[in-house]
Amino acid sequence: PSFITVPVPLGDRAYEILVGRGLIESAGARIASLSARATAIVTDEHVGPLYASALTASLEAQGLRVSVVTLPPGEATKSYAGLERVCDAMLAARIERGDLVVALGGGVIGDLAGFAAAVVRRGVRFVQVPTTLLSQVDSSVGGKTGINSRHGKNLVGAFHQPSLVIADTALLDTLPLREMRAGYAEVAKYGLIDDARFFAWCEANWQGVFAGGPERDEAVAQSCRAKAAVVVRDEHENGDRALLNLGHTFGHALEKITAYDSTRLVHGEGVAIGLALAFRFSASLGLCPPADAERVEAHLKAVGLPTRLSQVPGGCGTVDALLDAMAQDKKVKGGALIFILARGIGQSFIAPGIAADEVRRFLTG
Ligand code: NAD
Ligand code: ZN
Repeated sequence: PSFITVPVPLGDRAYEILVGRGLIESAGARIASLSARATAIVTDEHVGPLYASALTASLEAQGLRVSVVTLPPGEATKSYAGLERVCDAMLAARIERGDLVVALGGGVIGDLAGFAAAVVRRGVRFVQVPTTLLSQVDSSVGGKTGINSRHGKNLVGAFHQPSLVIADTALLDTLPLREMRAGYAEVAKYGLIDDARFFAWCEANWQGVFAGGPERDEAVAQSCRAKAAVVVRDEHENGDRALLNLGHTFGHALEKITAYDSTRLVHGEGVAIGLALAFRFSASLGLCPPADAERVEAHLKAVGLPTRLSQVPGGCGTVDALLDAMAQDKKVKGGALIFILARGIGQSFIAPGIAADEVRRFLTG
């Protein structure tokens, strides 16, 4: 099948992201070309039954030894207990330096398997085979891996770049619509950050992305290009990489308020509300044309994403609770919030030192 190659030029850790329909069939040959002898596939109980046997067969056809570890689906798997299971399964499968871990799943599996790969035997290589839209456009690219702790999400982890990312967009055919929409919030985000043309393209082509047409591959590839460009500029998030947090200051606060209960709110839904709020907030500060904020909201609404605080199931509590949750986010320095704001679609910037009162005025106004 035809596919798009997106390079991630990170010096001696450079790798490629392959995007296309049906890539899983030839995944074995591509992974074998990285010259490992054994692979451990890490997957979850939703994805494993659908795709693990095709991937296993494709790897075994190349003479690779394959073992599979299947974990319960959901955020709770990104835990110390989950890490222990994956590390022990890798060691039981005699994975050595030079061998490969293959993450077959969404962001939960990618973050967990990537972190296990970073620490087992002080680091083995890994390949991402992302199976959700979110993981294809976001979490599988950039090398952030990790697990959650009782103190918060993603607080224990490592930077560990994959050796290859294989994004088979046909795998998204089985993804629940709600997860598809949630991942799409991150796609739209890339346009909103610094690519107004891509946002306009999204407005015109989103239906093809959902239907699985060639537009899906284009959207995934363009998102990967955008993320790769930011990661190459600022691998360890000392500066620019923070732009990727557009919509996430509000989004993370809403996830916290809804207790990370995915029946109420999934990450991308929080991000969608966060994106709409970031643009309305920017407009209320006189930074951004109100018409741009309206366009953002209209597009997210059109694809079926929530855009308003009133759409948070079970409510989002008081303004003070929301401000409290934002203050606990890591993007805070000395009482002032670090916000990503916008002068318009495709014109986002890091705005340090937004006073909590300013946000309160916006939220109550
Ligand atoms: P997920 O991995 O929980 O997957 C969502 C659901 O879809 C799960 O129930 C899963 O089993 C199911 N699923 C996955 N692929 C499927 C398929 N092809 N068909 C049917 N069902 C399928 O969630 P996610 O949204 O992919 O990832 C969220 C995680 O990603 C969070 O833990 C978040 O912290 C992390 N993340 C990491 C980064 C990073 O840079 N490392 C960036 C963004 C998010
Ligand atoms: Zn996100």
